[in-house]
Amino acid sequence: MKIVHTINELRNEIALQRSHNKKIGFVPTMGYLHQGHLSLVHISRKHSDYQVMSIFVNKMQFNDPKDYTTYPRDYERDFALAKDAGVDLIFLPDDTEMYQNRLVYIDIEMMTDHLCGATRPGHFRGVLTVVAKLFNIVQPDVSVFGQKDIQQAVIIQKMVKDLNLPVTIIVAPIIREPDGLAMSSRNVHLKGDDRTNAVVIYKSLQKAEELIHQGEVQSHKLIPAMTDIITSGKPKKIDYVSVVDYETLQPIESLKEKSVIAVAAFFGPTRLIDNMIVEKKGDTYTCIY
Ligand code: AMP
Repeated sequence: MKIVHTINELRNEIALQRSHNKKIGFVPTMGYLHQGHLSLVHISRKHSDYQVMSIFVNKMQFNDPKDYTTYPRDYERDFALAKDAGVDLIFLPDDTEMYQNRLVYIDIEMMTDHLCGATRPGHFRGVLTVVAKLFNIVQPDVSVFGQKDIQQAVIIQKMVKDLNLPVTIIVAPIIREPDGLAMSSRNVHLKGDDRTNAVVIYKSLQKAEELIHQGEVQSHKLIPAMTDIITSGKPKKIDYVSVVDYETLQPIESLKEKSVIAVAAFFGPTRLIDNMIVEKKGDTYTCIY
């Protein structure tokens, strides 16, 4: 596995692989890898021949400076895990390499006024800008993103479509801890009771699924039932429990053909997010989480 720090080195390596007709797969990350990240590599390998992973803690997408400085980092550990998972090349740029003269941004209207966009101003502008830059740098055929960050995955699909970027986006399932907590690099900050209590987020999604299978489709019924369960785990704060349309990410009164039920809550200082995609086929609803 190669590790490169500059755009030039990366482009030379990609050009070489392309000259051998290799299809390029790309998994962007902020490092501190866990099984969730590695599952994206496994999926990418099924769709491409040469695996690129970026590790870049993108300051621009952090609305809270403390969250940026305390974001966990362990590059040696990441290298070992990535190599095992079949990554061929790690791109590990520094801030100067990525943002030499930052004047141009990618932003999106409407789809970021709810969910995480409502409480994290500038976050998705940072995400879209860095992902667009990384796509231009790596020029992958395929890139894999986790359902875990569903708003991110949906707006990246929208950016690719609206800007005609020549890359296929795959959205990968959420990988969870044995008790159901969605894996996240930030979970390392969860201490004591906060860690055990955080499972209520997953339990609230299970409750929503149960209600949906009993015929409940109204947001004003699903949201309070989920909120009760999350509250029982004594979160420091619930940011949102929302039901939105998958395509537009706008709140909806009742479930549509494809909807998202999403949660964000703080346990101690740690902000956790999770979600479920609900698909309607005929009269049947399928919950994917
Ligand atoms: P991050 O390093 O947190 O920016 O995440 C990099 C990629 O990994 C994003 O596409 C995330 O959605 C994805 N990801 C993070 N956690 C998980 C998880 N538990 N399961 C699947 N994918 C995940």
